[in-house]
Amino acid sequence: MDGPGEEVLLSGNAAIARACVESGVTLVTGYPGTPITPVIEILQNGKTELKAQWAINEKVAMDIAAGHSWAGLRTLVTMKMSGLNVAADTVLSVAASGTVGGLVIYVGDDPNVYYGMVEQDSRYYALLSSAPMLVPANPQELLDFTKRAFELSERIGGPVFLRSTTVLSYTFSKVTLGEIRRMRQKAGVVFDADRFTKVGSLRCLQQHRAALSRVESAGELTDDLNELTITGTPIGVIASSLAWDYLCEVLDKQDLDLTRLKVSTANPIPGSKINQLLASVKKVLVLEELEPIIEGAVRAEAIRCDNRPEIFGKAEGMIPRVGDLSPDLIREALSKVLGEEFDACPGAGLPDHIGEMEVKRLLTFCAGCPHRSTYFALISAMEKMGLDPGRFPVTGDIGCTILGINEPFKICWTEVSMGNSIGLASGFLEAGMKKPVVAALGDGTFFHAGIPPIIDAVSAGRDLPIVILDNNWMSMTGYQENPGTRNGRGRRISIEDVLWGLGVRSVNVCNPYRLKKATRAFRRLLISEGVNVLIMRAPCVARKPPAYKVPVRINQKKCPGFDACERTCIEALACPALIRAGDRVLVEEADCMNCGLCAHYCPKGAISRRWFGVRRRKDGI
Ligand code: SF4
Ligand code: SF4
Repeated sequence: MDGPGEEVLLSGNAAIARACVESGVTLVTGYPGTPITPVIEILQNGKTELKAQWAINEKVAMDIAAGHSWAGLRTLVTMKMSGLNVAADTVLSVAASGTVGGLVIYVGDDPNVYYGMVEQDSRYYALLSSAPMLVPANPQELLDFTKRAFELSERIGGPVFLRSTTVLSYTFSKVTLGEIRRMRQKAGVVFDADRFTKVGSLRCLQQHRAALSRVESAGELTDDLNELTITGTPIGVIASSLAWDYLCEVLDKQDLDLTRLKVSTANPIPGSKINQLLASVKKVLVLEELEPIIEGAVRAEAIRCDNRPEIFGKAEGMIPRVGDLSPDLIREALSKVLGEEFDACPGAGLPDHIGEMEVKRLLTFCAGCPHRSTYFALISAMEKMGLDPGRFPVTGDIGCTILGINEPFKICWTEVSMGNSIGLASGFLEAGMKKPVVAALGDGTFFHAGIPPIIDAVSAGRDLPIVILDNNWMSMTGYQENPGTRNGRGRRISIEDVLWGLGVRSVNVCNPYRLKKATRAFRRLLISEGVNVLIMRAPCVARKPPAYKVPVRINQKKCPGFDACERTCIEALACPALIRAGDRVLVEEADCMNCGLCAHYCPKGAISRRWFGVRRRKDGI
């Protein structure tokens, strides 16, 4: 491990991992999701005594973190923005109760939705829970602010949010390392019903007052992080997080020395520094990604100012509320406010140019992915039963399994939140939709939030066929293990055993590559009564390729060619290993996993796999 004072190239996430070590944190927990996943992975792979663990979901992670903090030790809990919604119940309660050991909640937002899900601004959670929030602007600040957040948490006795974004968490830059603090190992919890329970409204009201006063104290203790520079210019700029770094780049390039305020605390927003800036300028541009939270505070302060400066930001549409910001966008906005033409920033116009070079590819499963075979079998079963997949909904869920929503399958109809597929299907049934309504989810999602809605469906006596696409890992977020992972690090929990315990009527396990059997299994599932579950089990090919060794080949004499084939294997399966070369269809051997789906599909029998000598693993793993 590099020593204090050394400069190293770190990503934002690596800087946070380092800060945990430097801060003497004893536990880092969370649930994977872009952009925060690497923090725990870096710590798990590093040489440190610190415990870094994934929890079953974000709420459980937050519960564990709260317990660790109340036992007096330092802990960081991490989740993506949508995970914060899952953890919110505990987050708000713990923010009211307060903490003992330092507790930092690292949340990653995703402006511009680089990785899917709602474009959410988690800064609102700091306001909602009356907890301070620090918003760093670069990897060095991610390290420094994380350490500061632990100190602040212990000074005020409450949790502190640390908010980053996808671009910031994955940005690399030089970071100066600090001293490593020794961990405090001795744990102990005191009985304190006034803080650790919510029994009685008086206690709750007192906790609310205490939380508000903690935010006020945090404002005083972190005021130095909000940097105000008054240069006497009639135009000022207020910027926060990455927008601040972009602003510095633009000011440097245009050789401007404007009055400016860097806002590093989203809660509390530094009202007095905003006031000082407003009093010294005629116009103010406010720069922040997503919601106009700081802008709202600036406008509220401006009303009380004698000079009433003009405010520019999202309200006039000058700064977008959707998507992320860029130096180019800030340069344009600044140019409008100043009424001056600016030189283009280096790299200006590059995104458009890159857009022209973009190769349009279908967002689909990897070559040989077992989920492709699963959906193929489900559609085959529906067609054989005369059920139009366009009329009978299959509710989808979060993870790789949702790629069934895209061409060519278009079998999943919905994607809302973790475990939602089952509740949504129940809602469709309660609305009187024609059966079957199928719910489809992955193994990780089943453990995360799929169990309560199954209990609900069983106890309500619904007829709900459920398919669990069990590929052994949480592949979408980087192949993390879940409690059902076979040959994993922890004690394995059998999905079948859990399902039997929940009272479902039947549980069947099927290998998705055995297409005839899989189709028959789906036919039985689709006519079943009660809650029945079909587990389609085969490992993620990106982690463990199928054990089929015999190569799949296309007999060009039998294949009439791309144009003459009524529906080619490329169109029907969208397997990336099937490629077109002129009118010929070929198998890209380097990518092909020999799963055999295309051989099963080809109506001309042009694709074959010699079964002689094929080795198959018994358990499919
Ligand atoms: S489905 Fe068969 S016949 Fe059609 S393009 Fe593919 S290999 Fe050729
Ligand atoms: S066997 Fe066919 S469907 Fe399977 S990976 Fe190879 S080309 Fe794709």
